[in-house]
Amino acid sequence: MKRENNLALLKNPDTVWDLAIIGGGSSGLGVALDALSRGLKVALFEKADFAKGTSSRSTKLVHGGVRYLAQGDVMLVLEALRERGRLLQNAPHVTFDQPFIIPIYSFFDRLKYTVGLKVYDWMAGKLRIGKSLFLSKKETLERLPQVKEKGLLGGVVYHDGQFDDARLALNLAQTCHEMGASVLNYAKVSQLTKDASGIIDGIVVKDLVANTDLKIKAKAVVNATGVFADKINRMDIPGTPKSIQPSQGIHLVLDQSFLGGSDALMIPETSDGRVLFAVPWHGKLVVGTTDTIREKPKLEPEPLQKEIEFVLKTAGDYLVKKPTRQDVLATFAGLRPLAAPKEGSTKTKEISRSHKVLVSKSHLITITGGKWTTFRKMGEDTVDAYYKTKGLPAPKSQSADLRIHGFTEKPTEGHRAMYGEDAWHILNLEKKNPALANRLHPDYPYTEAEVVWAVRNEMAVKVEDVLSRRIRLLILDAKAALAAAPRVAELMAEALGKDVAWISAELKDFDKLAKKYIIN
Ligand SMILES: Cc1cc2nc3c(=O)[nH]c(=O)nc-3n(C[C@H](O)[C@H](O)[C@H](O)COP(=O)(O)OP(=O)(O)OC[C@H]3O[C@@H](n4cnc5c(N)ncnc54)[C@H](O)[C@@H]3O)c2cc1C
Repeated sequence: MKRENNLALLKNPDTVWDLAIIGGGSSGLGVALDALSRGLKVALFEKADFAKGTSSRSTKLVHGGVRYLAQGDVMLVLEALRERGRLLQNAPHVTFDQPFIIPIYSFFDRLKYTVGLKVYDWMAGKLRIGKSLFLSKKETLERLPQVKEKGLLGGVVYHDGQFDDARLALNLAQTCHEMGASVLNYAKVSQLTKDASGIIDGIVVKDLVANTDLKIKAKAVVNATGVFADKINRMDIPGTPKSIQPSQGIHLVLDQSFLGGSDALMIPETSDGRVLFAVPWHGKLVVGTTDTIREKPKLEPEPLQKEIEFVLKTAGDYLVKKPTRQDVLATFAGLRPLAAPKEGSTKTKEISRSHKVLVSKSHLITITGGKWTTFRKMGEDTVDAYYKTKGLPAPKSQSADLRIHGFTEKPTEGHRAMYGEDAWHILNLEKKNPALANRLHPDYPYTEAEVVWAVRNEMAVKVEDVLSRRIRLLILDAKAALAAAPRVAELMAEALGKDVAWISAELKDFDKLAKKYIIN
């Protein structure tokens, strides 16, 4: 997948795309995948990097949503459990079965969670990934050695999926590319064009790398810009009322020893009535999240002090060793694109997490809400809306069983397992040039070959693309990422044909960014 090849396809003035998709997060990629599965001609534009927005900032769960079950949203959970099962089958290299343990401190909770999670298992049907069961106090402490013992009666273990969100997004972009789409990062849609009857017939895109404008003709345009959806809606019809309410969630990354073992901890009801997860991920522990209303959409949202304190305190209430700010290796925040609440209500917990597809009178198709887990179904519903809007018969969606780029039944060992089939290509790079087997940081397994691979085959354009989303060092250990940045910049400059001025500008940008992920 090379940026210049995709760009060349887009420059052909005679091409009329069936769908031009704005947004390279899970929603836009889900639409692209489903549209391609039905034979449509697709172009996708992302103003930053793939998954730079919310889609790289999730809790990393492919889940039905135990919390939504407790809220009685049975249809949402059923849909998500079905999609969870499909994703684990189609992308086994970046998704995993993860056991979660709820520590139990009262008889009522024992009954509630044992029964509730049996229902959750049952709802997954054939796509169930593991059985929930009650654990004795001894078993719970063996599996979660760092959980507080005082008052503990036992635990309930259940299974959900876990994934690397940014890598899955990238693998989806690669799958779309292989199916004939043109997918372009650093391409900002600045205008929608319309025909004489006021129906959208294309877009104007700024290629932010070359700083040039491209005019794209398309039969329909999809707005899959998450928290930015209202900006595109207003490009279509100025003055369109607000439809999205960004709600921020933050995560803190700690050393895995704070929990111990390989099971995840799930706290079903925090003091603000939410769920808190502590999940082992890439050798660290991701703890979160929060739910804080933010007024403005931002590509780089920042955690609030009160959110950091809340996560530290809540985790500390359940762990033997209370984490402090000094223990935080990195922090990251993301914005949920929730539907704006009805007048008078401000509680984001009450806003439905299901997705919505809306079509404007000029045929802009907007997909909002939902979650990562259901990205494929969100895509299917959006493509159905395209056929309906254009009065065309809709061929059956074929995306449910599509294997995602990297699919393998024989993954390599260690951190490279996430690359699936691509891991062998990276190993080959190291065989040909052993210097590329050098580590980027002594404490982490990532090598120089992975940077070269990311530039050549994964459309990495900036240092941040490599250190935040191709490998996840920025959110695993932000100080280590800062230390690795100079070598990453050198390797990228060589692969991209850039000069020393580029290296120093990139390092300045990365330094500014990384500091936002460090709180001590
Ligand atoms: C804290 C948190 C935790 C979560 N945890 C989970 C979880 O564990 N599991 C789960 O299933 N879901 C989870 N979710 C939900 C899930 O992450 C989101 O629903 C999903 O990522 C939203 O994807 P999106 O594509 O709609 O938005 P985004 O990922 O934000 O993508 C929109 C993209 O549009 C681009 N864009 C905007 N304007 C333009 C323009 N003019 N031109 C071109 N591109 C443009 C942006 O740059 C952005 O990349 C979580 C969400 C949050 C906030």
